[in-house]
Amino acid sequence: MDEVRERIQDDLRGLLEGTVYADDVTLQLYATDASIYQIRPSAVVCPRSVADVVAVVRYAGENQIPIHARGAGTGLAGESLGPGLVLDFSRFMRRLVSVDDDSVRVQPGLVLERLNQQLYGRQRCFGPDPAMSHVTTMGSVIAIDAAGSHWLRYGSARRHIRSLQVVLADGSVLEVGREPTDGEISGGANARKRELVADLATVLERHAEPIKRQRTRSLVNRSGYALGGMLVDGQLDVAKLLCGSEGTLALVTEATLDIQPLPRQRGVALLFFDRLEAAARAVSEIVPLGPSACDLMDRRHLSLAREHEPRFEKLIPSNAEAVLIVEQQADTAAEVREGLRRIIDQTRRRRMAFDARQAFDRDDIELFWQLAHRVVPTLYRLRGSSRAVPFVEDIAVPPDALPGFLTEMQNVLKRHLVTASLYGHAGHGQLHLRPFLDLADPASIDTMRRLASDLYDAVLAVGGTISGEHGDGLSRTSFVRRQYGELYPVFGEIKRVFDPQNLFNPGKVIGDDPDLLTKNLRPLPTVAPPVEPAPLELATPQPTAVELATELVAAAPVAPPVVELQLSWNLEQMAEVAGSCNGCGSCRSQAPDVRMCPIFRYAPAEDASPRAKANLMRGVVTCEMAADTLATHEAKAVADLCVHCHQCRLECPANVDIPRLMLEAKASYVAVHGLHFRDWVFARIDAVSALGHRLAPLANRLIGNRQARWLAERLLGIARARKVPRFARQTFLDRARRRGLTRPTRRTGPKVLYFVDTYANYHDPQLADALVAVFEHNTIAVYVHPEQRASGMSLIAAGALEQARAVAAGHVRMLAEAVRQGFSIVATEPAAALALTWEYPALLNDEDSRLVADNTSEACAYLAQLHRSGKLALDLAPVNASVGYHLPCHLRALGVGSPGESLLRLIPALRLQRIDKGCSGMAGTFGLRQENFRNSLRAGIGLISAVRDRAIQVGATECSACKLQMEQGTTKPTIHPLKLLALSYGLMPEVASLLSRRSGELVVT
Ligand SMILES: Cc1cc2nc3c(=O)[nH]c(=O)nc-3n(C[C@H](O)[C@H](O)[C@H](O)COP(=O)(O)OP(=O)(O)OC[C@H]3O[C@@H](n4cnc5c(N)ncnc54)[C@H](O)[C@@H]3O)c2cc1C
Ligand code: SF4
Ligand code: SF4
Repeated sequence: MDEVRERIQDDLRGLLEGTVYADDVTLQLYATDASIYQIRPSAVVCPRSVADVVAVVRYAGENQIPIHARGAGTGLAGESLGPGLVLDFSRFMRRLVSVDDDSVRVQPGLVLERLNQQLYGRQRCFGPDPAMSHVTTMGSVIAIDAAGSHWLRYGSARRHIRSLQVVLADGSVLEVGREPTDGEISGGANARKRELVADLATVLERHAEPIKRQRTRSLVNRSGYALGGMLVDGQLDVAKLLCGSEGTLALVTEATLDIQPLPRQRGVALLFFDRLEAAARAVSEIVPLGPSACDLMDRRHLSLAREHEPRFEKLIPSNAEAVLIVEQQADTAAEVREGLRRIIDQTRRRRMAFDARQAFDRDDIELFWQLAHRVVPTLYRLRGSSRAVPFVEDIAVPPDALPGFLTEMQNVLKRHLVTASLYGHAGHGQLHLRPFLDLADPASIDTMRRLASDLYDAVLAVGGTISGEHGDGLSRTSFVRRQYGELYPVFGEIKRVFDPQNLFNPGKVIGDDPDLLTKNLRPLPTVAPPVEPAPLELATPQPTAVELATELVAAAPVAPPVVELQLSWNLEQMAEVAGSCNGCGSCRSQAPDVRMCPIFRYAPAEDASPRAKANLMRGVVTCEMAADTLATHEAKAVADLCVHCHQCRLECPANVDIPRLMLEAKASYVAVHGLHFRDWVFARIDAVSALGHRLAPLANRLIGNRQARWLAERLLGIARARKVPRFARQTFLDRARRRGLTRPTRRTGPKVLYFVDTYANYHDPQLADALVAVFEHNTIAVYVHPEQRASGMSLIAAGALEQARAVAAGHVRMLAEAVRQGFSIVATEPAAALALTWEYPALLNDEDSRLVADNTSEACAYLAQLHRSGKLALDLAPVNASVGYHLPCHLRALGVGSPGESLLRLIPALRLQRIDKGCSGMAGTFGLRQENFRNSLRAGIGLISAVRDRAIQVGATECSACKLQMEQGTTKPTIHPLKLLALSYGLMPEVASLLSRRSGELVVT
């Protein structure tokens, strides 16, 4: 860290209760958002209180350093990026302060969807629904004047603002709302507020005429400052004026907002069109009929939807060129149906829509909206050099101009030889257009400039705006003057009233840099050697805020060009993966209906997000960070926040393989420093299990002894409060030898090689017995290779790749041979199946590892497939039990659905309840560790509570680690689905006695 950054960090740490970072790794994580830009800040501050915010603002003012407020960093125009101090409100200031029937008081970092979850019980919501509601923060919703699909019903955020607590650029704290301009200031009148209101009123009165003459006719407008209608009858609405100002005028530290009743009844229709223009024309027929939303999708989105989700394939006719998603809300179901009927009739009568589908129940409505919310982001999955680039993605035109404008828009695109995807809130004229460009091609940069310019001319010609809801940021600030003409200098005056030193987010909304659109572009992950920067010298006289910060950024450390990779891939491949993260921020989701990162879920800080990991690795491959960064403790701290569960890889709209990137990062650290002792213990948990088995009677007694557990915690780091599994006196491999299973079968017919792994071998041989019994019952011969060891997944997750590679190579040699002899490989432990199918090829990258991967299945998945082909024996006896099933992350990561659950559903009389509470919080050995124990429980509390529920008698899951968590804090057993299947086949009556002893209720008839 250079001297100046270190000084800033030390100074601020002395002033604040919150956290301050100026290390290279953290700055890299905050250098980007969901836009195409990158600017490294000079420090990152996570304030805990208003006092912290005031202290930062005063310090920044004294030292002339700009401040950039930030929420979730999902802005598409680079609004929150800058070279100064980034103030991350999402970390600590995220409380719902108070709530009553029609309003809430919130802190700025509160996530919109979490607010709405808390309002649900009162049948209330905050209506405006930007598409990223699951991560977007309330401070930003206000700062951007966010809106979404339901604008027709709720408008944008501005409509719902009552008052704001703000910190001004001089550090004063004001509560502002609708204020009289005659000096009778409400709410604790003070001189600063009087002065502010008077100055603002003077500017607005002086320029009343140009404000009135403003040409923008679109229903939404997020460009520039909102000055029209703010000063009415001697009242100035300072809060509404601040709304949409992108953190350039003041910092919001609390807000009082109106809330709305939840809609009682909803219905959604999909209207299909054979031409985009027909859909656009239909909008003006539909809107007068009072829908609450009317969104438009083009053909590209429809094809993606069909590929993405089989249900859409059935739903969307193949000849549809465009679709309108129309929602109707009302007090009664009949009104909703009637409303949709009128809309469908109208568009059919006018021969616009050729077909329609309707949804009235919650799941179907959700499915229809998934078209917009889940499919649009999958645009980022498209591979190839050209990507959908957001830079003109926020235009809005008056709805009556929409059909004509779409034609003009297509002409402009054609002129520039560019194709684009289009999604829009057509009901209010908002169009999200993303042209496909290859930003590695210098010609594309020029195309960006010319395309934006021509497109904006077309937009302004019909009275539209360059930004309807995302803001000006870095993409559009240079065009604000063109949109506003004579009004533009008035914005400058407003800025000077609030922020005379230009501290807050300088260069956004107001700025005359004609090249801003194409400056500061996020470097593409090419592997170029860096340029040595000049050493930073603090100039005398003092440089301006922007100059100082830019110098700080230029002084960022540089890398030697060589990065030594630990996985079997090259730098270009790693660059491709890191570069495929577009920064959308979806992986900050804590929403209950997605299984995003379990670590971020309980510790929602940017460094815990999957996005942070991609940003770190992009910094390394673009050589903006030193190649040895990955060997630093800061990088390790970020990498350790990944427990290798693979869930982000599945949920990420762009399918970024974050676990692989983090494997590389951890391995780089281990390659330099080796494993710390405790990391080694957990990486070799199989060795711990082997030792425990050797000492079995004693070890099992020690497990129940408090002093021994305390000692194990002190010496090995195993949490003393964690229920750990007992050790078997005889391993399954020994049993298998005795039973002759370790000799390959000579039988004809289907045969499997059972990959046993640690848990079934050392702790639960009964599970392995169940596998053998069930497979043999289905006339599938089972072979247990005697030389197999643990899969090495714990080594892999710890980054000990040298050892993991040796384990993988040994296994691949053995297993590939078996595959060639006609064996399929099955594993009862999902992590082992994942190691064989996903991790070994990444470690070895050879033909044999791919052969093994292609022929390996998780055991239940194998049987479920057998059932689908009609070959599974169905002589299943009833099992009268209520079973709560949990799908483990590592099984989910295999992409085979929920096979264990499907098998359990075949068992007569068994009442199965799926527990959908996300990750168990165990994440391999993560939850075993003393330092993680509490966090693990926090992450898994939903699952644990569900198992405790009286309605569930026993838990079921395939994963041994999840089983430990499900049994934590309850006496109910959790058992592998295969054991229940064996019980139902009548093959293992001992399972029933085991269960009935522990649950007291299970009955097999
Ligand atoms: C796939 C995708 C879809 C999107 N769809 C929509 C959409 O439908 N509608 C929509 O409106 N937007 C949309 N956006 C843009 C973005 O998600 C929203 O603008 C969102 O409100 C930004 O929230 P954030 O918390 O991520 O803010 P950030 O990006 O962190 O910040 C946004 C702005 O708010 C300012 N700010 C943050 N906190 C404060 C504060 N406390 N005080 C003052 N200023 C502050 C920042 O300085 C910055 O200017 C979309 C983005 C993506 C990636
Ligand atoms: S990892 Fe995926 S979800 Fe997260 S920011 Fe990147 S693209 Fe978005
Ligand atoms: S693999 Fe799991 S723990 Fe790691 S970043 Fe992704 S979701 Fe988080």
